[in-house]
Amino acid sequence: MIVLKGAEVSARIKEQVREALKGCEGQPPCLAVVRVGERPDDVSYERGALKKMEAFGLRARSCAFPEDISDEDFRKAFRAINEDPDVAGILLLRPLPKQICEKDIAEMIDPAKDLDGISSVNMARVFMGDAGGFAPCTAEAVVEVLKANGIPISGKRVTIVGRSLVVGKPLAMLMIKENATVTVCHTKTADLAGTCRQAEILVAAAGRARMLNGDYVGQDAVVLDVGINVDKDGKLCGDVDFESIRDKASMATPVPGGIGAVTTAVLARHLVRAAGFEIG
Ligand code: NAP
Repeated sequence: MIVLKGAEVSARIKEQVREALKGCEGQPPCLAVVRVGERPDDVSYERGALKKMEAFGLRARSCAFPEDISDEDFRKAFRAINEDPDVAGILLLRPLPKQICEKDIAEMIDPAKDLDGISSVNMARVFMGDAGGFAPCTAEAVVEVLKANGIPISGKRVTIVGRSLVVGKPLAMLMIKENATVTVCHTKTADLAGTCRQAEILVAAAGRARMLNGDYVGQDAVVLDVGINVDKDGKLCGDVDFESIRDKASMATPVPGGIGAVTTAVLARHLVRAAGFEIG
């Protein structure tokens, strides 16, 4: 089984960013990472995003707010970030605390700065197959890993486990755009293992530690693991039981070091596009 490392795909995107910014005068584009509270997942994702922007020669700033900030105060602060001409793109870490109406904030965000495609404008563009918008970075990262490794998508049977608005649904649309035949599974799918085994390309995005073992993987399938989970021993792991698929899958992404590394690279590419540069 070939291990598809995210670092190699990320390096390719870094090169695209460098090329796009060649000759750019003045400050490089700036990302604002908006975080409410101190959830460890958010803090760690923010750290990764800030580090990646710096490594790619881009700017980033953290805009962190206390967990108990009122809806009104957060809206005011968010509006200021949204309207700040120095901010080319925004990454809003979610879920937001329950006193803040997340749906309203997703609608407030300037679609031109909405790097993770959370607004209905960008979501509609993904569903319409319009590449002019911003798709959610993780969904785009999955397609990017396939393309960067020369793995054909057109005409292939793709099965996605998970139907969230962040990963499963937009990814299904991106795969359809690439001419795949797509099946989307969820908790009510009758024969999950059997359906997954039919897939030539299997994407795990369920958020269940090591749930998909060798029984779920067809011979020579390509397996992409989006899951980021912590197992009962406190170890980071994906949705796929990596060791048990070794004799079945032809290729697979590891966790950590797979899709996650590409997600922040795609975020950087979106930032460059949002700032008006032509890129890859
Ligand atoms: P989510 O909103 O919780 O959605 C999970 C989806 O998986 C739901 O559609 C759910 O089905 C389905 N599901 C859960 N358990 C299942 C089971 N036992 N059998 C079949 N389907 C099942 O999660 P998410 O936000 O999409 O994230 C999914 C995973 O990706 C998480 O581990 C998350 O941490 C990770 N993630 C990674 C990145 C990255 O950059 N790599 C980015 C975002 C998320 P129902 O709809 O029926 O409930």
